[in-house]
Amino acid sequence: MRATTLLGTLLGLKQTRILEATFDDLGLVIDVAPTARVPYCSSCGRRVRAVHDRYEGRRWRHLDLAALRVWLCYTIRRVDCPRCGVVVELVPWAENQSWFTYEFEEQVAYLAQRADKTTLSSLMRIGWRTVGAIIERVLPRHRSADPLEGLTHIGIDELSYRRHHEYVTVIVDHVKGGVVWAHPGKNAETLNLFFAELGKERCAQLEAVTLDMSGAYLKAVTEASPEARVIFDRFHVQQLAHDALDEVRREEVREADPEDRGALKKTRFALHKNPWNLSTLEAAKVAEVQKANQRLYRAYLLKETLAAILDGRQVNVARQKLLEWIDWAVRSRLRPFQKLAGTVRRHLEGILAYVATGLSNGRTEGLNGKIRTITRRSFGFHSAWSLIALIFLCCSGITLRPVHR
Ligand SMILES: [Zn+2]
Repeated sequence: MRATTLLGTLLGLKQTRILEATFDDLGLVIDVAPTARVPYCSSCGRRVRAVHDRYEGRRWRHLDLAALRVWLCYTIRRVDCPRCGVVVELVPWAENQSWFTYEFEEQVAYLAQRADKTTLSSLMRIGWRTVGAIIERVLPRHRSADPLEGLTHIGIDELSYRRHHEYVTVIVDHVKGGVVWAHPGKNAETLNLFFAELGKERCAQLEAVTLDMSGAYLKAVTEASPEARVIFDRFHVQQLAHDALDEVRREEVREADPEDRGALKKTRFALHKNPWNLSTLEAAKVAEVQKANQRLYRAYLLKETLAAILDGRQVNVARQKLLEWIDWAVRSRLRPFQKLAGTVRRHLEGILAYVATGLSNGRTEGLNGKIRTITRRSFGFHSAWSLIALIFLCCSGITLRPVHR
């Protein structure tokens, strides 16, 4: 069997001729050409006879062969397309603009769904940034026709990435349990882009929206879909109570005698835990706070009580208890909790909607946790769109298979 025939069978590339193979310091370099003699325009896909110019020695990385890097090499032409102008020709083995073959990119995407950063990078011998660029190209080849079809219950969440300086807004479908939309940014304008894409008719079909109380999203939601029930994320409500407690604790540490300061500082961890999760030592610390610092203990009880109210399932009971909680917080003489009481009062119906429906961004906690893990993993990508592509690849029900021949 001739070497080129053997290689052709091994590579199994469609519409591709194998011309010659050589080795260089990078690996195995295989000269190839499309079987069609007349080039195709990569922009409109039509046959174009007019060749504008050629670039010699353009290379594409292909899947390794016997642990050896493989490169396809071809003198690519630019065609003078009557519709598109001077554009590069279409090659059957790779997407326009890519330095990798389809099969190489598919393998990377498959691994990106499952493997960690180091495994992927070292196995495929490519940088992490390149992985980001590759999955951005692969994703459109696998995405479902219209993920925004049939949405009734959605959750809106923001992700911070790159050491918390940049944000991505993510929309999840509570019914099917996947990510349906994501875009860089975290304000009302970002969300308006989503509603514009969704369109008036589908906006009107939204029944419930879970979100946090930050206000930026709320306005956009009530404007775009006034009929939808707004549900405030209970985990966000509780987070605000945690923050208030922390503020009280810091104030107390500041004002404490120097000898008490150290002991107070050490209570942080114990105070933020649920009482039933406390170790004996931590429980002793909380008891100590109860004796030594009335204000801090009151803050602790306020935080705990709020969480307990949100555990309830009867709306009327929860409403009564929340109103009592607001009163208590207002009278507590703890400024951070007085402020929180105002927030809870303003958003009372949305918080109660959680009690009524049990819907929350945390309901898809598995999904939320997964998205956050992906966000941490994405560190090093060069754009938010790479992160978004990875989120979709892993959290929107796309099934990828390893490339086997
Ligand atoms: Zn064209």
